Amino acid sequence: MGLLDRAGARLTSHPEEAEILIINTCSFIDTAKQESVDTILEMVRHKTAGTAKKLIVAGCLVERYGDEIRKSIPEVDAVVGTGELEAILEAAGLAPAPAIASTSPFNILTASGPAEVRPGQESQGGTHKGKTPDARPEGDLREQQGRFRRNDWQGATHLLPTYLYDETTPRFLTTPKSSAYIKIAEGCDHPCSFCVIPNLRGKFRSRRFESVVAEARQLVARGTEEITLIGQDTTCYGEDLGLRDGLPLLLDALAGIEGLRWLRFLYAYPNRISNRLLETVAKHNNICKYLDVPLQHASPDVLKRMKRGGGADIFLRTLEKVRAAVPGIALRTSFIVGFPGESLRDFEILVEFVNEARFDWLGVFSYSDEEGSGAFSLDAKVPRRTIEARKRRLMKLQKSISKRAKLQWVGRELTLLAEGESDETPLLWEGRTQFHAPEIDGKVYINDFGSLESLEPGRFYKAEITEAHEYDIVARIL
Ligand code: SF4
Repeated sequence: MGLLDRAGARLTSHPEEAEILIINTCSFIDTAKQESVDTILEMVRHKTAGTAKKLIVAGCLVERYGDEIRKSIPEVDAVVGTGELEAILEAAGLAPAPAIASTSPFNILTASGPAEVRPGQESQGGTHKGKTPDARPEGDLREQQGRFRRNDWQGATHLLPTYLYDETTPRFLTTPKSSAYIKIAEGCDHPCSFCVIPNLRGKFRSRRFESVVAEARQLVARGTEEITLIGQDTTCYGEDLGLRDGLPLLLDALAGIEGLRWLRFLYAYPNRISNRLLETVAKHNNICKYLDVPLQHASPDVLKRMKRGGGADIFLRTLEKVRAAVPGIALRTSFIVGFPGESLRDFEILVEFVNEARFDWLGVFSYSDEEGSGAFSLDAKVPRRTIEARKRRLMKLQKSISKRAKLQWVGRELTLLAEGESDETPLLWEGRTQFHAPEIDGKVYINDFGSLESLEPGRFYKAEITEAHEYDIVARIL
């Protein structure tokens, strides 16, 4: 979006107004693929009936089914994979804007220039073929050590993506001005057997330390007060650059940026939660006391088949360590139910674990059998009805755990980031505390503005929690 914006495109979220329709797709599980395909077909209707002249499909679905999309949906004019972001300009028929030598945020052209286009497809978008703009020897070391493997994959139509943005890549923020995500690394070298993300996103590669810090400074200078660090595994940050304690070092540097009020990272890998990391979270006031650690399961047998390792006992010890190091920390996790071979006993181990662990936030995913994943060839697939029943049971348990935990928040005074009027009713506003990551956790409804006439979205207020529901809480502004 940043590249398009700088090349002169005017962005709109209303497809009926657009001349060029771009769909950024996801394809890591069945429901995501379905949603992507449904959206492409919806945009095909816009193109046929409306003003749009071009239809471009971008993102992970292209990594997986790029050729099929071209063949079966002729209305699609170009496909752009995850590793060829610059090719979006050519696909859209726009010339790249010239590089501007300036230290001002987001207005410097990427050093690597436009991606190479496959011969004979000059007007059809680009490909990774022959172009590795950000290839680095450090990343290859992990593959030599056997850390990364791309399984045989029928769907792979592209070479592995190697793209990595940096602080000079133009960005167009779609989040409110006060909040921004920063991707600190791309790709993944973990071998989790249910997951095709490494196939879609490539080998793990960290952005340069200075690049992340520079981008964060630019964002804060433009009014961002909350930064959320993301990557497929943020706790591996810097390993491929030969950096020890990369994430704690990065957090230390970012926490020192004046004006940054909330800093958090998502997607920690359980065995990468080091004492140093926890000490860093504990020592900085502006690092949110919040940890998102997707555990995926608690039965050691299932985790072994998932190629992740660990189990309920180890995880409980980890959580104890986390809570001791960072008192009051909010914990989020997610699990997959119905992994091939998950027995009733395995599931009961998971239920007992959830009961004991008392997560503040928890997501449960139904296992999705993905071609190209290691688990695709495993026997003993769990019937869909059993999977859904297990999911319901786990969510019901979490509901009661969450309600009890939220009741303990009543009466507490917390800092609240006001986000705006509630979608449900204009009588309420919504906000978040440091214990709520953007978009994924429960809501904080604000029903009393105290002495204020109105609130300002993106501003921080002191508030008191007055009510608790199963996942959501209610607050009044102090
Ligand atoms: S760590 Fe996450 S992204 Fe990487 S393979 Fe495992 S589940 Fe997939």
